[in-house]
Amino acid sequence: MKIPGYNIDLEKAVKIIKENDYERVVLQVPEGLKSHYSKFVEFLEEKTSASIIISADPCFGACDIVSSEFKDLNADFMVQIGHTSIPNIKDFSIPTLFLNAISDIDVSKAIEKAIPSIKEKKIGLVSTAQHIHMLDNAGEILVKNGFEPIVGNGDDRIDSKGQILGCNFSAATSIADKVDAFLFIGSGNFHPLGLILSTKKPVIACDPYTNEVKEKELDDLKDIVLRQRYGAIARSKDAKTFGILVGTKKGQQRIDLAHEIQEKLDSKQKKSYIFTMNHFSPPILEGFRNIDCFVSTACPRIAIDDYMQYKIPILTPVELDILLGLKKWEDYQFDEIRN
Ligand code: SF4
Repeated sequence: MKIPGYNIDLEKAVKIIKENDYERVVLQVPEGLKSHYSKFVEFLEEKTSASIIISADPCFGACDIVSSEFKDLNADFMVQIGHTSIPNIKDFSIPTLFLNAISDIDVSKAIEKAIPSIKEKKIGLVSTAQHIHMLDNAGEILVKNGFEPIVGNGDDRIDSKGQILGCNFSAATSIADKVDAFLFIGSGNFHPLGLILSTKKPVIACDPYTNEVKEKELDDLKDIVLRQRYGAIARSKDAKTFGILVGTKKGQQRIDLAHEIQEKLDSKQKKSYIFTMNHFSPPILEGFRNIDCFVSTACPRIAIDDYMQYKIPILTPVELDILLGLKKWEDYQFDEIRN
């Protein structure tokens, strides 16, 4: 099925629904594609006899698997649109299909535009699920221009070679010692910011939608974010009571890490509580008034990108180690969910 800008293989969902006589199908649509939800529903209703239920909760990634909730509603199949699967998540309460939204935009122009900005020879190539099919094409353009592109394998959380998630840059770090810089193909600052913080290498980002090329801006953003992180640690230095956040989304659950954190805090005579939530939101957490500092083991981007929305500091696990004197600031690492 085609929607403006994307191809989505909804026929695959139709085939599976028919083959298995599924009757109640849940559709999970990411924020950026929600405006198209009715087209997806109509497509499935026209080609199958299944009844379609739409999950209206926000969905930001393949980590957000809600199949157990929908099993309770007697749904028998789930389709999540807009993300590739996280391969090491396997035990779903009901069968679940991930359908990537593949961008139909040609990235060639954006790469050509980026070439004068690339000063390094060995270039790691990375992208998001939407453009991942264009990496070979991008590599060919780079080779023609005298560069040596390398595409790395990610860990078990990564579906495709060269693919990065906001919480996992293993496809980049696996080749970081072989390249001088990274070229990111995609839009926005969310992924390239994580890439630069995780790999500590120069990152050039080219946006195939606008043909904009960014390097200095990303470097400046990295400095701003690191200053914010340093400030968040400094603001937490007198904290006595900590709230450890654990995401209940299947692909964000780091409960063992939460218990490890609690043991560390116990050993430093700090009181802590473990809070679970599906979708963390500042107003709801504000009700827990005696907390001086939160430590997030849920989506690593909550502490980094939503920091300004929280009235009290929110740290990543690595930042807590720095606060407790178990690591030095110089050893700062970007928090990721690996394997
Ligand atoms: S944990 Fe966060 S960054 Fe990772 S897939 Fe989920 S929403 Fe995206």
